[in-house]
Amino acid sequence: MNHLLSNPAFKMACDQFDAVANFLNIPEALRERTKQPKRMVTVSLPIRLDSGEVKVFAGHRVQHHLTLGPTKGGLRYHPAVELGEVAALAMWMSWKCALADLPYGGAKGGVAIDPKQHSQAELERLTRRYTSEMIPFIGPQTDVMAPDMGTNEQTMAWMMDTYSYQIGHAVPSIVTGKPVSIGGSLGRKEATGRGVAFLADRAIDLLKLPDDSRVIVQGFGNVGSYAALGLAKYGARVCGISDVGGGVYNPKGLDLHALQAHVERTGGVSGFDGGDRISNEEMLVQPCEVLIPAAMDQVITARNAGKIQCRILAEAANGPTTVEADAILRQRPEIFVIPDILCNSGGVIVSYFEWVQDLQSFFWAETEIFDKLYRILDRTMDTVLKESRKHNIDHRTAALSLGIQKVVNGKAIRGLFP
Ligand code: NAD
Repeated sequence: MNHLLSNPAFKMACDQFDAVANFLNIPEALRERTKQPKRMVTVSLPIRLDSGEVKVFAGHRVQHHLTLGPTKGGLRYHPAVELGEVAALAMWMSWKCALADLPYGGAKGGVAIDPKQHSQAELERLTRRYTSEMIPFIGPQTDVMAPDMGTNEQTMAWMMDTYSYQIGHAVPSIVTGKPVSIGGSLGRKEATGRGVAFLADRAIDLLKLPDDSRVIVQGFGNVGSYAALGLAKYGARVCGISDVGGGVYNPKGLDLHALQAHVERTGGVSGFDGGDRISNEEMLVQPCEVLIPAAMDQVITARNAGKIQCRILAEAANGPTTVEADAILRQRPEIFVIPDILCNSGGVIVSYFEWVQDLQSFFWAETEIFDKLYRILDRTMDTVLKESRKHNIDHRTAALSLGIQKVVNGKAIRGLFP
């Protein structure tokens, strides 16, 4: 897998693993087995565009380990997608699932495409072709996909339809994050963002910060929007929001409903007149109590980690903080980090609920789903904080080591075949 190390996200995931493996003293014989992805599939996807022209896209799926159950992870449509990044995201999914005690390994998929440049018909053809190419490698007991950046409920509905057509009957458990009308779970769409809001609010209470704490969110997609709305419901003041086109900032607080209407009308945050225009880089270093990166990975870097002015860094995105930035944050104990594999785990936890409901064809009420979700998040955050205090380690190392240790234990007890 050394060729993947040229990808910064994969290198970052491997460096994190190596540091935790040293901390945990993982035996050599188990290290490489636990670190290396089990399967990596790359397919070419020739798609007929509406113009009649045929264009070929690269599609990837990485399944990190199959030790504890099927693999689970999102499918991303973004122009910067490459195999190394997908492999890193699959590794982080493994530790995230293990940390929350879910019976899954991690996986991730991606297609290098800018979905905004394509019609719904083109995206449907792409999704169906991708699913069809992946059929030998996926299944409700093998690998279950979900939405991620650039994909949504509709993408999952097309995937489920394509898979079910091949099998001969409806198989809702092949994907999670699909519409409720075809076997999706109540609450799944909001789960990641609401989970982020729940954990950030718990941290606000723990640090005894004011109820109307200032919040800044980078990314106003699925996760960022529900995180912002959720925190506003808890009483916080959302002062800054940005997306790929730039941001808007108002220290008195933004009118989120007016901003949402603006985004629906224009497709982005930029141009909203409820605050000052501000770039993504500037946004991250504005003073606030809670900073939520909810878009891309590697946005908190050695360049800005010393300058961010928050008390809580709630990592809604996957891998938003580089290893170098992490070293700087460790010298800034005033910043309470909620590491990504804990912070955004609400999504995969409710995906797990959706999968269980689909397998049983027995569906739960929304209150039951959020009660269960918040109980798991509460318990997991307590465990991470306890581990961090016990060994005097930062929250990320505590969360990663809990997740990695569970996977290592599973591999050790199952033994090595043949
Ligand atoms: P999304 O596609 O719904 O939204 C992404 C947002 O990020 C958009 O507002 C987009 O404009 C913005 N963005 C893209 N590039 C940017 C850039 N360079 N600078 C600033 N903003 C940029 O995606 P999402 O589902 O909300 O996912 C966001 C993050 O959360 C990703 O890192 C994803 O892996 C992670 N995540 C998502 C889920 C989920 O359930 N959707 C679960 C766990 C983690």
